[in-house]
Amino acid sequence: MKIIEQIYVDGAFVAPHGDERFALFNPATEEKIGEVRLGDNRDAHAAIAAAKRAFPAMRQTTPAERIAMLQTLAKAVAANADALRAAMTIEYGAPQSFLAFSVPHAANVFDVAARTVADYAFTRRIGNAEVVMEPVGVAAAITPWNSNIGFICTKLATAIAAGTTIVIKPSEMSAIQTQVLLEVLHEARLPDGVLNVVNGYGHVVGAELSRHPDIAKITFTGSTTTGREILRNAAESFKRVTLELGGKGPQILLDDADLDRAIPHVLASAFRNSGQACIAGTRLLVPKRRHTEVISRLAQAVSALRPGPSSDPASDIGPMVSARQWERVQAYIRLGQEEGATLLVGGEGRPEGLQRGWFVRPTVFSGVTNDMRIAREEVFGPVLSVLSYETEAEAIAIANDTEYGLQSYVLGTDAERMRSIARQLEAGRVVINETPADAQAPFGGFKQSGIGREFGPFGLDAFLEPKAIIG
Ligand code: NAD
Repeated sequence: MKIIEQIYVDGAFVAPHGDERFALFNPATEEKIGEVRLGDNRDAHAAIAAAKRAFPAMRQTTPAERIAMLQTLAKAVAANADALRAAMTIEYGAPQSFLAFSVPHAANVFDVAARTVADYAFTRRIGNAEVVMEPVGVAAAITPWNSNIGFICTKLATAIAAGTTIVIKPSEMSAIQTQVLLEVLHEARLPDGVLNVVNGYGHVVGAELSRHPDIAKITFTGSTTTGREILRNAAESFKRVTLELGGKGPQILLDDADLDRAIPHVLASAFRNSGQACIAGTRLLVPKRRHTEVISRLAQAVSALRPGPSSDPASDIGPMVSARQWERVQAYIRLGQEEGATLLVGGEGRPEGLQRGWFVRPTVFSGVTNDMRIAREEVFGPVLSVLSYETEAEAIAIANDTEYGLQSYVLGTDAERMRSIARQLEAGRVVINETPADAQAPFGGFKQSGIGREFGPFGLDAFLEPKAIIG
């Protein structure tokens, strides 16, 4: 049983003022594995005050000094990959395919930020103006549970790159992962007050950070509903915001697609991170004339996916993070049937042989139309909806007919045609045939998938204010 009693303020682990306890579970066994003591408003204030005290010195640091900090953090995280992987396994249950990406990614974001700083023009000349890019002020970050370590590292890396300090409120459901990461980051010895972390509820600590006048910038990853609430709270003091929210990514499978290559891509995009991914491609758009063939290949491939615990390398799909998330996914599987979609694979209940743990059956619905709720709402579980289209124009129209606009996918063989379709899609990213993204490429959403971008120069811009010195 892991008991987490402390938060991290001003370079030290300290007991919070808040004393409410929150239970932590292993989602693969449903066993209680720990407890975290949550901070409250007073703890948020103490953390903000520490970040504010540390800000004047941090804003004076040179790019070279910040690059050195980022490189130290990258090394520290990389050196502790095993401990981080173990924490993600026990508290989140991510399949090993996701762990193989997410732990190296958490270290890599610091190196990427260091490279971004090295290439970034902090001073520019525009006519008679010297334009200086200055840190925006004290930042706050709020993270979700589906990749808590990666999000903390990304947001901390960008704050350091910009020369500012940060208060982070991680997901209360990821406290063990946060604690292991914090012990690693603490060893890297950042100046006191640069990093502060307060465990707590969203409506308490998260809301306080979103409102507090000493916070100049909020960077949030989570649901669109919470993003809207944060934006409202942030409006009072005109905070700068980066909001990375939900998605309902379309995957347009073109009529010239080679199914041997495309079907594995479809599965990887739809069921990534057990379907608990904002970028999941959960609407598969299939040309009518290839519908029968695609459906039969898909049914075969999805039936072969293995749900199971993270500890088993053969598991493709891990458990849902919580009983609540499990219920939510079940409700959507019921809803799909009530709405008249055809249940092709999967369905309600636990997968065969798994009596405990918040496992769901990887599920595919065919005959879905884009007005159904399963085609419009984010399920956040391994549930794929298959829709059909006649023409390329219709595919693009269906893809864009959504409130979201995070990540879209195009699968086919004609590169020029796919690029032309990509240009017409309303999404922050369009991935062609699962090509891996450059680590500095911007990430973020159109429409209700968010505001702003993370990573590389666009991510750094969002933590800086341009000041024009004229004359
Ligand atoms: P959530 O919005 O419920 O919670 C996210 C965080 O916000 C948590 O730390 C929570 O405590 C906090 N929070 C809750 N209410 C708050 C409030 N009123 N004020 C301030 N903070 C508050 O999201 P979740 O269920 O943890 O994560 C899943 C969601 O995150 C999905 O919608 C998913 O699409 C989204 N997500 C987006 C991205 C992206 O980069 N676009 C990445 C991963 C997940």
